[in-house]
Amino acid sequence: MKIGIVGGGWYGCHLGLVFKRCGCEVDVYEAEADVLQLASINNQARLHIGYHYPRCSVTRLQTVACFPRFMEAYPTFSKPIENNIYTVSKKDSLVDFRTYCQIMEASGLQFDYVNPADFGIAGVDGAISTQERLLDFDEARRTFKEKLGRSLHLNSRVTSVVDGPDGAQINGETYDTVINCTWCALKTGPQPENMFFEPTVLLYYEALQPFYGALTVMDGPCFSIYPYDEDRYSLSHVSFTARGQYKTFAEAQAFNDQVTEADLDVVRCNMTEKALKEFPAFKECFRYLGPQFSVKTKYSNACASRDTAVKKQGHVFSVFSGKIDTIFIAEDSILEQLGFKSETSKIALFPDLDMENEESELERRLQRAVG
Ligand SMILES: Cc1cc2nc3c(=O)[nH]c(=O)nc-3n(C[C@H](O)[C@H](O)[C@H](O)COP(=O)(O)OP(=O)(O)OC[C@H]3O[C@@H](n4cnc5c(N)ncnc54)[C@H](O)[C@@H]3O)c2cc1C
Repeated sequence: MKIGIVGGGWYGCHLGLVFKRCGCEVDVYEAEADVLQLASINNQARLHIGYHYPRCSVTRLQTVACFPRFMEAYPTFSKPIENNIYTVSKKDSLVDFRTYCQIMEASGLQFDYVNPADFGIAGVDGAISTQERLLDFDEARRTFKEKLGRSLHLNSRVTSVVDGPDGAQINGETYDTVINCTWCALKTGPQPENMFFEPTVLLYYEALQPFYGALTVMDGPCFSIYPYDEDRYSLSHVSFTARGQYKTFAEAQAFNDQVTEADLDVVRCNMTEKALKEFPAFKECFRYLGPQFSVKTKYSNACASRDTAVKKQGHVFSVFSGKIDTIFIAEDSILEQLGFKSETSKIALFPDLDMENEESELERRLQRAVG
């Protein structure tokens, strides 16, 4: 079988490797000069396990299920964080600390209760130390390039995907199956109706004194301080990182291109003010380095869901990415629809569940747990 993949982000690279291992002929077309550009590295570098999504069960359970598979398939692509602290804001959170912890427990997630004061945190209901990890983009990029080898075509922008009775064509080359992994930047194949493109900004900081790990304040209009690489941390805030909603990727990117220093000063002021509320030593601990711009593709819905989904029309699949480790949701869906057996085994976290009704059964358990 001949598979053509558009986009060399996390999804395109992972699916490229999966299909190579299945014995297919694979071409991955990436417009940029390297893999893992755009959103695949311009993000918070958090390897999700589920702690981040108390209000959205599908996203939470997708990451709960995919995290162990990611660790198994890519053991060198992430690093532990010594103290990865999640805390629940007294004032701004949409769930209280007790409910938050019960949801995490009911989802099978482990954590240790810690004293917020030991981590310089104020104005919160309680805090936990989690096992969430830091993604290593350099290692992932190097490995993906090496393993994809000649299947990878860099500097290769796809301008047309045409479906036909016997296959689909990418820039005139025919494939049995084409997979659009551009996070909907390329408008081809089936796309979700209620989606939009969101320009984003995170702020990079250097630590002026040793920082204990990572701090995420839940849940709603709150901030995070997360390590990015050896030298940098990122600061983000739900209300100020998201910068608007646009119909096309190009419009969202154009917004980012026009951001001025004065705009950034306002964002920095707003984010710092919020960070100081729950982490009063922020200014003594961190020095501003510069912005990280990116574009997020999102569904418009109330629970802030970031589910991964796949749609198929004719010979073309479209992948709507959620989180990075949920690449396996896309893998399972596409392999199943093409009649392959999944490469990596599904981890049975809830072996007694009726999988047909997995979602509603888990919802019922969560309802019971949170009373
Ligand atoms: C601010 C921000 C923070 C985030 N934080 C996290 C986080 O901490 N953890 C997490 O798991 N997820 C996070 N995410 C989400 C994560 O970034 C995405 O889920 C992931 O990057 C999606 O990968 P992808 O391969 O689908 O898309 P992309 O990374 O967007 O890759 C698509 C690729 O397609 C290429 N392309 C586009 N058009 C064409 C074309 N016509 N021809 C050829 N190539 C083309 C692009 O150049 C790009 O390389 C965050 C996202 C943002 C924006």
